[in-house]
Formats: sequence, structure tokens, C-alpha cells
Amino acid sequence: MQAVPRAIDFHVHLPTTEFIQVTLGPYAKAAERFFRTEVKLKDIEQLAADYVAVDMIGVLLAWDAETATGLPPLGNDYVAAIVRRYPQQFIGFASVDPHKGRAAVKEVERAIRDLGLAGVKFHPGVQAFYPNDRAFYPLMEKIQELGVPALFHTGTNGLGAGVPGGMGIKLDYTRPIYLDALAADFPGLTIIGAHPSWPWHDEMIAILQHKANVYNDLSGWSPKYIPQSLLREAATRLQDRILFGSDYPFITPQRWLRDFEALDSFTPEVREKILWRNAQKLLAHTAVAHMHFG
Ligand SMILES: [Zn+2]
Repeated sequence: MQAVPRAIDFHVHLPTTEFIQVTLGPYAKAAERFFRTEVKLKDIEQLAADYVAVDMIGVLLAWDAETATGLPPLGNDYVAAIVRRYPQQFIGFASVDPHKGRAAVKEVERAIRDLGLAGVKFHPGVQAFYPNDRAFYPLMEKIQELGVPALFHTGTNGLGAGVPGGMGIKLDYTRPIYLDALAADFPGLTIIGAHPSWPWHDEMIAILQHKANVYNDLSGWSPKYIPQSLLREAATRLQDRILFGSDYPFITPQRWLRDFEALDSFTPEVREKILWRNAQKLLAHTAVAHMHFG
């Protein structure tokens, strides 16, 4: 039995040229200006070294928003190859573009069954679709059948922020309430809302309290700035449904953890749930979670 890593980081983007400069391209540039930071490009070896250094397992996210953005995807094969190279360090989540219709359904099956990816990530804002749109239900049906969780960006958006027209991204797509309808129609599907869902975090709290198949990762925001109502629920009633995620490389796991440690409302038991126990349950079908957490 190996030592338990400190945490499972549920939200990790690739810091590589392929993702930041090619797949995100102009969107990343705008986000960097808005947040007044610059993402330091790294290669896969440096990414792996970063996660070894913090003693965390990272969930790596693919990205395909080709129909809406015209930009090339960060493919599922790319992410799967990294996971194969560092099987103790990373878990991979697939991405498919819902607008690709039947091809998306086929691709998600290939990504989970053949490539060994462990979940599916969507960005309804950048991909420009409503998660509860029945046109995409065959895709959701397939994901439910495959038995893996689906992660959806919620809340406002760094990408496109501060630019006239928000680079075409419409915030309505990322309101959590659409996940409520999806959760109602697919009770066998595990749904995770990514980020604290601001300014609809209270809407998200209502969904979490009502639908037992919905979870929320706290990535993308330093715990210092996460709305108080959500932090209060995370420490008490919703402690089994909240997951740690950083949103690396936009926020480092070190920074997130440091700011989380500074909050005094979380008991050691609840911290453990948020940092890895809850994630471990959702990832019990993966070899790495099994290997580390039994
Ligand atoms: Zn993200």
C-alpha cells in the first residue's frame, strides 16, 4: 500500500504550447490581459515534476470547441498519451464537441473504452451549447452508459473577459441551472460543476442540495475569494459533494492550498474529504485512484 498523496486536483489544464497557444490562442491572450498574469508555458516533463513536487494526482482536461471557435482541439489522444506516460500521477478527462453530433458520441466511447480516459469535460460557454438541450441527449446518454463523470464549466468566464463582446462567449450557457435539468433527466450520470459558479453560486447550492448526483469543484478561485455562502456549505451540509481543483496553470495548487489552509472553518476531516476523499469516490473506476487509495 502506497502512501496517500496529499490531494487529487480535479481541474488541471495543460500548460503546453499545444493547449495555451494553439487551442486557446486568442482566448488565452485576452484572459492573461484581464487577469494581469502571464501563463508560463511548460512541457510535459515540467508539468509532471510540478505534480510530483506537490504530491498530488492531477485530472488533465482535453478541449474540443472547434465548431464554435474554429480552433484546433487539444485531442483525447494527446491527453491519453500523457496519462500512459505518468500513470501514477495523472488521470485524463476527454473532451468532445457536442455540435459534432454522432461523431461526438463515437469519440466519447473511443476515448473512454479504448484510450482509458476517466471522465468527460465540457465548456458550455466556449463550446456554445446548453447542457440540457435535448439535441445533445444521445451524447449524455452515452456518457451515463459508460459510467464516467461529466464535468461542466459553470459561472463567469476568464476566457474572453474584458474584450468587447466577450469574444462571442455568452455567459448564459454556463448558468448552473441547466445542469439541474440534466441531473433530473439523467439520475445515473454524475455531474460536476466546475468552479464556484459565481455569480450563480447560490443557484448551484440549491442544485447540490436537491440532486444527489451533482458535485462542485472549487477551482479557478483562491479560497480567499470564494463566496462565503458556498464556503459555509462546503464546511457543513455539502461537505461530501465538494472537490478541490486548482485550474492549473492559471492558479497553482500551492497557492490554492495555502489559501485553503488559512481558512479556519474547515475541520481536518472535512479538509480530507474536499482534498481527496470525495474525488476518490468519483474516480474509483480508475487504476490510479485504486492504486493510491485502495
Ligand atoms: Zn478550467
